[in-house]
Amino acid sequence: MLTESHFYFNKAADVLGLSKKIREILLTPLRSIKAELTIESETGELLHYIGYRVQHNNARGPMKGGLRFHPSVDEDHATALANLMTWKTAVVDVPFGGAKGGINCDPNSMSEKDLYMLTRRFVEQMKDVIGPTTDIPAPDVNTNARIMGWIMDEYSKYEGFSPAIVTGKPIHLFGSEGREEATGRGVMYVLAEALKEKSWRFPDMLVAVQGFGNVGSNAARLIAEQGAKIVAVADHTGGISNSNGLDIPALIQWVKEHGGVKGFPEGEAFNGLDIITWDVDVLIPAALEDAINQENVDGIKAKIIVEGANGPTSPEANEILTEKGVLIIPDILANAGGVTVSYFEWAQNIQQFRWDLDRVNKELSKVMHKAYKAVRQVASDKNIDMRTAAFVLAIQRVGAAALARVSIKSEIPF
Ligand code: NAD
Repeated sequence: MLTESHFYFNKAADVLGLSKKIREILLTPLRSIKAELTIESETGELLHYIGYRVQHNNARGPMKGGLRFHPSVDEDHATALANLMTWKTAVVDVPFGGAKGGINCDPNSMSEKDLYMLTRRFVEQMKDVIGPTTDIPAPDVNTNARIMGWIMDEYSKYEGFSPAIVTGKPIHLFGSEGREEATGRGVMYVLAEALKEKSWRFPDMLVAVQGFGNVGSNAARLIAEQGAKIVAVADHTGGISNSNGLDIPALIQWVKEHGGVKGFPEGEAFNGLDIITWDVDVLIPAALEDAINQENVDGIKAKIIVEGANGPTSPEANEILTEKGVLIIPDILANAGGVTVSYFEWAQNIQQFRWDLDRVNKELSKVMHKAYKAVRQVASDKNIDMRTAAFVLAIQRVGAAALARVSIKSEIPF
């Protein structure tokens, strides 16, 4: 993961002609914290985990990024994702830097009470390095609004009432309207821009979606509402297809009740791995890292790929697809709707004010359309692909902010 995020960064750094030293400065995290987390479980057993928070860059504002609860969480993984957050917040031009973290636990094998205690212990260990003006966590894989509520409560114990310490909170605990569907909505907005550019229309599009959680299901629902046909969906339980278009609200209800798409009666089952090479116009990977890789890339038929997930395309596959002229809307642009509405939530919390859903969606639409156009402009000006252009734009913005804060005369092209 670290190698991959550096690969894309370095491609953009080549375009900008950055020296080795400047690359190192921009890639190295500001701070990396590792905390020992021991709790006594409900059953009296000692449970021992490691918590991580990597704070990558704060040139443009307080650092921002999710907390992941997963056995695969480690320092390298958190560092790669923290890097991505710095570039992502810069692409959509929200006043944040980048961070990421988590705990190397498997929440699916833990009781609710143990998870609650573990989350509080994490905040206890991190409270001196996070804060509404320093580093603001948010949900990521296996963390949700409920856990964000616990974080706010624990932090407020030490610092007083602090809703702005964390975003993605429950609505009744100062969360924002529209936050839950924001990433999927952002995916729909950038796809709308891409279609306009090609003079294509939603109603003519066949779409496949990998992953039917927060990002995948909301993106599928909103894109279907625009008239496109979602003909195939896959998740960890398998794949389901319908050439007339799946009934997405019915599928969402099915997944709520059954835990996955498997068995949905209004479609045909298929091996979920085949989703990547489905015969569609638009492919939305919204589940895993490296879902598009050397093994399946040659079979891809989609003309547009919108990266709902973080890092779903391996560098090798990315090069092959770019060569073939497939339009990839990269993760740091395509899934930035979530962090954008997190920014709205933080801004509402700081002002102790609330926006209605209509305002949130309108502001999100403005940000995503503007960001797409800015990336497209860089891609056209420099004759580069959209991913490299997104990194170029982000590096320029972060670099310019960093330089404007210090008294260094520099030949650096920001
Ligand atoms: P989620 O946990 O809600 O959903 C994940 C989905 O992936 C589930 O449907 C799951 O069944 C599916 N999945 C897991 N293993 C799979 C497999 N082997 N094959 C096919 N599908 C599989 O997670 P999410 O919040 O929707 O996040 C998905 C991706 O989007 C992650 O990469 C995450 O980092 C990224 N992302 C999420 C947000 C957000 O706001 N939630 C924002 C930006 C990026």
